Formats: sequence, C-alpha cells, structure tokens
Amino acid sequence: MAERGQLPHPAKRLCCRPGYGSGCRPGQRAGGAGPGGGALCAGSSSAAAAAALGLLPLGKTQSPESLLDIAARKVAEKWPFQRVEERFERIPEPVQRRIVYWSFPRSEREICMYSSFNTGAEDPAAGPGGAAAPGGTADATAAAADENRLPFRRGIALLDGGCVDNVLQVGFHLSGTVTEPAMQSEPETVCNVAISFDRCKITSVTCSCGNKDIFYCAHVVALSLYRIRKPDQVKLHLPISETLFQMNRDQLQKFVQYLITVHHTEVLPTAQKLADEILSQNSEINQVHGAPDPTAGASIDDENCWHLDEEQVQEQVKLFLSQGGYHGSGKQLNLLFAKVREMLKMRDSNGARMLTLITEQFMADPRLSLWRQQGTTMTDKYRQLWDELGALWMCIVLNPHCKLEQKSSWLKQLKKWNSVDVCPWEDGSHGNELPNLTNASPQGANANQDSSNRPHRTVFTRAIEACDLHWQDLHLQHIISSDLYTNYCYHDDTENLLFDSQGWPLWHEHVPTACARVDALRSHGYPREALRLAIAIVNTLRRQQQKQLEMFRAQKKELLHRGVTSVTNLEGWVGHPLDPIGTLFSSLMEASRVDDEGFHGFSDFTENMGQCKSLEYQHLPAHKFLEEGESYLMLAVEVALIGLGQQRIMPDGLYAQEKVCRNEEQLISKLQEIELDDTLVKIFRKQAVFLLEGGPYSGLGEVIHRESVPMHTFAKYLFTSLLPHDAELAYKTALRAMRYVLTDCPERASSSGWER
Ligand SMILES: [Zn+2]
Repeated sequence: MAERGQLPHPAKRLCCRPGYGSGCRPGQRAGGAGPGGGALCAGSSSAAAAAALGLLPLGKTQSPESLLDIAARKVAEKWPFQRVEERFERIPEPVQRRIVYWSFPRSEREICMYSSFNTGAEDPAAGPGGAAAPGGTADATAAAADENRLPFRRGIALLDGGCVDNVLQVGFHLSGTVTEPAMQSEPETVCNVAISFDRCKITSVTCSCGNKDIFYCAHVVALSLYRIRKPDQVKLHLPISETLFQMNRDQLQKFVQYLITVHHTEVLPTAQKLADEILSQNSEINQVHGAPDPTAGASIDDENCWHLDEEQVQEQVKLFLSQGGYHGSGKQLNLLFAKVREMLKMRDSNGARMLTLITEQFMADPRLSLWRQQGTTMTDKYRQLWDELGALWMCIVLNPHCKLEQKSSWLKQLKKWNSVDVCPWEDGSHGNELPNLTNASPQGANANQDSSNRPHRTVFTRAIEACDLHWQDLHLQHIISSDLYTNYCYHDDTENLLFDSQGWPLWHEHVPTACARVDALRSHGYPREALRLAIAIVNTLRRQQQKQLEMFRAQKKELLHRGVTSVTNLEGWVGHPLDPIGTLFSSLMEASRVDDEGFHGFSDFTENMGQCKSLEYQHLPAHKFLEEGESYLMLAVEVALIGLGQQRIMPDGLYAQEKVCRNEEQLISKLQEIELDDTLVKIFRKQAVFLLEGGPYSGLGEVIHRESVPMHTFAKYLFTSLLPHDAELAYKTALRAMRYVLTDCPERASSSGWER
C-alpha cells in the first residue's frame, strides 16, 4: 500500500458523497450492496482464498518478513496503542500502519468460540463431573442439524457467498456491510456491521440486524473472517484523528461541511450542539484537551478482553432458569457452563466474568427462597447445575496463573454468595434435613452432636477454601513442569515422601484437592501438566494402598479378634463433590486416546494414528513418568478400581447418597467401554486381591462398617470382568460381596454381626 500518496485521500471523501456510482470502487461504497457487488466480491474472494492458501507460505519462504512487521506484530499484540504513542514522540506513519494492521485478531478460533456452542475443531469440553456434556446419541443428529444454524457456520456461508462488502478499516475500527440473501418470505436485507478491536481481541461489535444473543451474529462473523482471511484486500487507514491532524483549516472546513451534508438529517442537531459548546468558553468540552476518536486504539487503562454482551448473558440465564428445566433449558445452561470451560481453556478472562454473571442469576432465582420456605428439595437436574457451578468456581480460583488481586475479588464475591441465606448446601439436603444417621467413627459421637450448629457447607465452600491453595511448592512445580523429574538415588526410608521406590515423584495432599488441581490445570489449557500431576497422584494412591495393606497385615489378628473396624474414609472419592476419581480417570483416558491433538510430542505414536479410530483407547507406549510397560490406560483403569473399591462412609442426605450411586454407575459404564486385554486383567487381579485382603481400607474387606457404601454394583462388575479370566478369584470376590462369612471363615461366624 502506498503510504504517502493515499493520504489526502480524495477518494475517501468522495466516497461519502450522496449518489455514489460508477466512479466508486466496490470496496469503498458507503452503503448498499447490489447483487452485482456480491458477484464481484465472490470472484475476488476465491482468488484471494487461493492466494492465502497457496501463496502465503510460499511467499514466506521467498522473502522473509520485514523487521518492521515482526516488531509491529508483537507490539500490536501486547501494547495498548496509547502507550506506544506516549513512549515515542512521533511514530512514523508506516509503523503506525503496520501496528494497526496487526492489531486485528489473527485466528478464527476465538471468533468461533464467541459465535457458537462448542467449537467444531475442539473436543466437546466434557466437564469432569460429566455435567458439561449431557445428552446422548439421540441429540447428536439434532445437534448436527443445529450446527448449520450457528452464527459461526452461517457467517462462513455468508462470506463464501460473497455477501461481505464495503470493508473498511479506519484505525482500530472495522466496518462493512453484509447482505442477507432473500429467503422465501424474507426480502434481501443489508446489515451494517462495525467492529472495534484492540491487541488482537474484538472489544465491541454492533450490527444493524439487532442481534439479541450472547453470541456474535453471523454478520459480525462474516466481516471478521473476511478481515482475517483477506487482510490485504481491506482498505486500511490511520485513526481518523490522525488523518484530521494532517488537514489544514480549509480542508477541515470542507471535511466537516461535507460530512454534515451527507448525514444532515441525523447529525445536524448534534453538530450544532457541539459547535455551541466549542464556542462557549466554560463548556465541559473545553475543559479537556483533545477529543474522543472511536477509531483510535486502546488507552492504557483499558481492559483487554473480548466483547461479551453481559446483558444478554444475564437475560438468557434468567430465561432458562425461569423455564425450570423444560424446553431444553437445562441443556442450554449446561452449554453455557461448557462455554465457560472453553473460555478458561483458551485462557480468556471472560470465562470468570461469564461465570460471575451466571452465578448472580442463579442466586437471584426466586425459587430458592420459595423452596426454602416450603421445605421442598430442588430437582436432581437443577441440583447438578449448582454442583457444576461450584466445581467451575473451584477451577477458576485454582488457576495457576491468576493474579492475587483477581483471586481476592473472587473470594469476596464467593463469600458474599456463601453467606446468602438461600445458598444451596453442598450435601444437597437443604430444606428437609435427614437426621444424622452416621456416627461415623466410634469415638466420633460427641464430635457429631453439634453438627447442627456448625455453619453449613454450601456449593461455594470448597472454592472459598481453595482460595488459600497456591502453586508455590517446589516439588509440585517440578512434578507438573517436567517429564524427567525423578529421583533414582532413593533409599526406602519411610520419611521420604517425595519419591517412591522407583524414583517417581509422589504428591501427598488431600486427594480431592490434589485432583481439583488436575482439573484446574486441564481446564486452563495445561493438559500435559495435568497429566503429570495425575500420574503422580495415582502413584501416590498405589503406594498408599500398599502401605495400608502392610499395616493391616501387621495388626490383622488383633483387629479381627476385636471384630471392630474404624472407618478409614469419611469422605469417599466416588460421588465426592469434586469427583477426584472421575478427574484422574478422564485425564488419563484422554491421554490414552490416540487422536487427541492436545498432546503433542508423542511422535513415536504417529505411525499408529492411521489405523486407529477416534474412540478406540490404546495402550500407548510408556511415557516417561510411567513404569516400564505401563500405559495411561492401565493407570486409568487402576485408579477407577481403587476408587470404586474404597471402603467409605455413606454421606448424609439423600442427594449426596444418590450421587454416590450415580457416579459409581457412570464410572463403571465408562470402564465397560474398555476391552480387557492381558495387561488390564492383571490390574483387575491385583486390585481384587487388594480388595479381599485390604481390611478396613477395602469395601470388600473382611470387616466393614455398617454405614459404608454398599459394594454390590461394583462387585457385580468385578465378578463379570474377572470370570472369563480367573474364575476362582471372581467367585471369591462375589462371595465376599455377599458376605458369606460362613464359607470364608467358619470360626468367626458368630462375630459377623460385629457392630451390634
Ligand atoms: Zn447482525
């Protein structure tokens, strides 16, 4: 683009004349696009697409990018334009131009995220609670049909149809028209689209179609994609203030008069008002230097985030809530949650913002106080939404890279919601409380008495607690940042908790909390880091299991003689609000899925890629951090078995109890999708033996607490899985599950009713 020659720009001003016509170049007309313009556009667009596809990489190899472009690209990405202006007295015009050029978003991914549920290219962002991706295969076909109606798809169709015209970039402002072709009953309509942007993010959009949705309309999509795909076809100008600066008085007069003439009906009152103010000494306008310019870039204090229509988010959530789970409103809300997860994954600050808006609407739901008064429990579906809300907040405050002031503002907000009277409780028993049946530990009777006085845990309590967690621990940092963090010089002393006997790192922390870290890492777009921590946690669990077995064996005689058991796990991992086992399982399964593009660096495995279908799970060759011959799949299966077989106290409250059963069933059905091969059968055998011999730690131990979670569903699964491979072990487990103490150990038959 010739720099100097275009500046006085008669064409630009001519463009504003009424009755533009043949002399006008297609890209410059002020409004209206006939079919001719569309056709013209289509022709040039395919040529440009070819150029963009074929020639761009070629061009790159032929002539390296100029230093100016490289620098401008970096500056455009990171610096608010005001800072650039302040830093340098005069920015040469070509430099300004390149910064302005590079300031528009360069990838379509975010445009897609802001104009559709579920970006097509991405995985469907299933939440660890399983709540984010509801709906079965029946919905799949409907979803496919829906997809073409998504603004993003329609935007692409409009762009491909050559409906985008009059594209003009002035400074940090892009405008254009998008023509909606005539449909059966609807006539052709022309939409005027305007987009502001800053540091590669779209910061505001307007469209004359009057779009009322959370998402950008198809016209905004079409115009932004036009700019991304054919940047060199878009006329580029400096910010208008810059252009005005270069005019002399006469030119300015002419400019203003023409401007008023063209738009006199609309702007004349404003023009007169401004003129009066400027001529009056004491007017507000004269108190400050300079004047606003909608095409200038960001000021230093401007937040740099993507445009999100907050009002629409609020309206939609309110609407969905008012529909009370009917008309697919529950599904819609889940899609919104999935959108938050998607934003977190892209490390987009709007994720937290959007969740705040959603939470506010949830808290304002009038049904909450109504139910509270009537003592009604909320429906399961609605309750699950609250759970997902809590889990998402946990993810947000656990963001490994969030700023302290951000965290403290979230904490303040969470505490505020937490203190509201109607805020739902974590165990879901709000309103109709069950008497506390579980005096969990023999000595715990007193401790439980004042449970009614204790402040109740709400769905936000865990997130509030998580605000105290940090990522500063060096051992933790090493675990998540390196595949090679091992310690082979390990001596097997019990004091050393950092590494196991193989030299692999261990991570000791309250298991659900540690797993919440895994979930947070995944959610914020750090899948490899999440995987490393997940492996360390599984290794820790396995070692713990071994230690517990040894401990039990040492005291077995005494314990069995007394016939009592203390419950070792007051908090079960399956059905837990943070779903620790589910998180570990899905992280490891994701890693074992060959087609996952999120995991690069598996170069050894690429040869497998061709023959593997997308949903087949593979034993990938051992990764660092795994023992010889181990695979992610094996780890996933093992950790699921550990969780399912854990002896744990049944939680209070009907909802929490149902959740335990539901999560157990979900996990088992996921396990059933996996075909058992020899290596996996080995894991099953190993865990079955642990279960039979694990004493108080095992749900299939010789003595179990009467309040512990029943094992029959899991035992049935274990039995059918083991039966073809090891009938004896299978029957042993089944008998244990049925508690045939007689066959097992006749002399203790009398003590089988040990707790009474
Ligand atoms: Zn529109």
